[in-house]
Amino acid sequence: MDLKNFKLDIDTDGIALVTWDMPQRSMNVWNEEAIGEFSHIVDRLIAEEAIKGMVITSGKDTFCAGADLTMLAAMKDRFARAQAERGEKPAMKALFDEVSKLSQMCRRMETAKKPVVAAINGTALGGGFELALAAHARIAAQNDKTRLGLPEVKVGLIPGSGGTQRIPRMIPAQDALQLIVQGQELKLDRALSMKLVDKVVPASDLIAEAKAWIKANPKAAAPWDRDGFKLPGGAVYSPGGAQVWPAASAIARRETNGNYPAVKAILQAIYEGLLVPFDTALRIEARYFTSVVRSPEAAAMIRSLFMSMGDLNKGARRPAGPAPTKLETIAVIGAGFMGAGIAQVSARAGMKVYLVDRDMEAANKGKDHIIQALTDQVNKGRMKSADKDALLERVVPTADYEDLRGIDFVVEAVFENRDVKKDVIEKTLAVIGKDVIFASNTSTLPISSLAAYSSRPADFVGVHFFSPVDRMMLVEVIQGKKTSERALAAAMDYVKAIRKTPIVVNDSRGFFANRCVLNYVREGHLMLTEGVPAAMVENLARMAGMPVGPLSLNDEVALDLAWKILQATKADLGAKAVDVRQEQLLEELVVKRERFGRKNGKGFYDYPQGGKKTLWPGLVDICPPSDNPDKFDRDDLMRRFLVTQALEAARCVEDGVITDMREADVGSILGFGFAPFSGGVLSYIDTMGTESFVALCEYFAKKYGKRFKPNKLLKEMAEKGETFYGRFATHGTKQAA
Ligand code: NAD
Repeated sequence: MDLKNFKLDIDTDGIALVTWDMPQRSMNVWNEEAIGEFSHIVDRLIAEEAIKGMVITSGKDTFCAGADLTMLAAMKDRFARAQAERGEKPAMKALFDEVSKLSQMCRRMETAKKPVVAAINGTALGGGFELALAAHARIAAQNDKTRLGLPEVKVGLIPGSGGTQRIPRMIPAQDALQLIVQGQELKLDRALSMKLVDKVVPASDLIAEAKAWIKANPKAAAPWDRDGFKLPGGAVYSPGGAQVWPAASAIARRETNGNYPAVKAILQAIYEGLLVPFDTALRIEARYFTSVVRSPEAAAMIRSLFMSMGDLNKGARRPAGPAPTKLETIAVIGAGFMGAGIAQVSARAGMKVYLVDRDMEAANKGKDHIIQALTDQVNKGRMKSADKDALLERVVPTADYEDLRGIDFVVEAVFENRDVKKDVIEKTLAVIGKDVIFASNTSTLPISSLAAYSSRPADFVGVHFFSPVDRMMLVEVIQGKKTSERALAAAMDYVKAIRKTPIVVNDSRGFFANRCVLNYVREGHLMLTEGVPAAMVENLARMAGMPVGPLSLNDEVALDLAWKILQATKADLGAKAVDVRQEQLLEELVVKRERFGRKNGKGFYDYPQGGKKTLWPGLVDICPPSDNPDKFDRDDLMRRFLVTQALEAARCVEDGVITDMREADVGSILGFGFAPFSGGVLSYIDTMGTESFVALCEYFAKKYGKRFKPNKLLKEMAEKGETFYGRFATHGTKQAA
């Protein structure tokens, strides 16, 4: 067989060195061609007397990134065709056989009765790590960047090539469960201490060490293929197992609320697999994989969290024309809460940052925040002290605009006040180069209106960060009416450089993310006014799939901000634009009782110093809870949280605020944690079906209020049986109507 993806060298000792190096790819992945070729190599290992053992390594910087997810998509297409042509059962059988191929190939290698060593030169994830686990030993090259793990769960899948069976036979089930259910990626020292890697050696010795292992272990076999093998944490039905299993399902239930079929399938595959011999266990794993790969959750998560996110990170929405932006030195103006965070992530990306404020005291205060944040990271072992010092050297606090003469890019994060912003824009434009792009982090002021203060409105753009800046991965890039392609490209280059995900949003009140989030928070407020107990509001929101309840979220963002936004909306759009019940609730809390949220220790919750937050007991006087909470329809309440956000996203599409469906989906997960299992706000609607979604909205509108009335676009799509991804081309910027 002509090998295109692997190189095979057999040395004089009969040791085959297999170097995986796929042409025209930056990383090795399992696709049909690679599986076919490797299978052929395994056949030779088994058949050829002259081959005494095998070392597998990679010709790239990394070992293998896992399975090519487009291969899975093709498998699913074939399944759908077979199901239509031949019926469910034969289609399932064919899919089962297909998904078992990689797993069976690894098993044949493992049982070839010849030693195999994985010489791991860099990151090995998913199917790549599973290949290494099927080898008889794993020797890794010292490399700080190496990560090992099974992250399948993050795209709604389970490991399907023996990972759920080998790991819990190598380490105690409890540790294996954590690793696989959370999709953890381990650094080498951790993998070594967990005994998932046998040895870490200097990169230059990697192959020699691997070959030496083979010579020393000519009769290698996996521990589970040897007599007397015992599970490291004890059998399932043992005192050790009794400690693990009941708790494991309870924890999984608590963490996922049953929203992630993959998590349940991982638990089932491991539990059932540990009760039976290894080959049966592999079939159990394949059976669960076959079921999970067909789930709507996996389809939605793969599309949004892998495909779309990858596309956006690679700059799918960046205009192609403008040259790459030079980003060596930038200015962040406003050294407050957001400005300090933005300066920190920019300096982390290697940029020199002038951190500007009204006076040196304020500018230094911003830098002090960065020092504090980095010191915390060093103390937690997440950053090296030398890296912290180097980063801090790149942050230069200043109050002198003259310093900005040679900079390449500006981010403004001063007070949310028109006059202050106008003054800063004018002062900055007076000193920066004539082609330097100015980006504002405003959260509520239309970009086009701020651009009017600039002598070069085409060079003005919005970059809307989320707090806390160092942890939140999304940036909304806001296009004003006059924003040029060059400004848009520069903003996207900047977001890429700081390793965040950009979505392009057209200028509108609240842009995209805040429009959806404000609806979520409002729904929580309204439920309180309906008599739903606060704890029930919070818990049901999490059960629906949101990471934090609406009341907690509001406390974090600040209740007085919610009040201010409500008042501004009323002033701009009229009294009808706000819900009186919500206004009264916020007035009671903010105006009458000065409960501003976490920032003053008083919100929907109380925040005792050094203690755990607890729901504020006084809330029951403002919103008396029903004495019969069972009367509320639990499913309705949960769906209201998601529907109100998805509906707002559909309105954003109709308004032309969102022009690429991928951006709404990815933005909703990264920006405000919208139920990740759904694949995001628009996938939520598409998966349910537009017709069903519209029917649900109409039912809610009748029962809970006209804020749920579906918009024109949705109704039209429902009539035609269209989906968002079907109707709108992903790359297009087509208008909705
Ligand atoms: P902040 O009050 O913490 O910081 C504002 C900073 O601007 C202060 O350090 C202040 O001294 C400085 N400043 C004021 N006038 C100035 C001037 N003339 N020249 C230079 N500096 C000046 O506010 P923040 O929360 O960091 O918000 C800043 C911007 O970011 C606002 O536009 C806000 O809407 C936006 N934003 C905030 C959040 C958030 O969660 N807080 C999220 C996204 C966007």
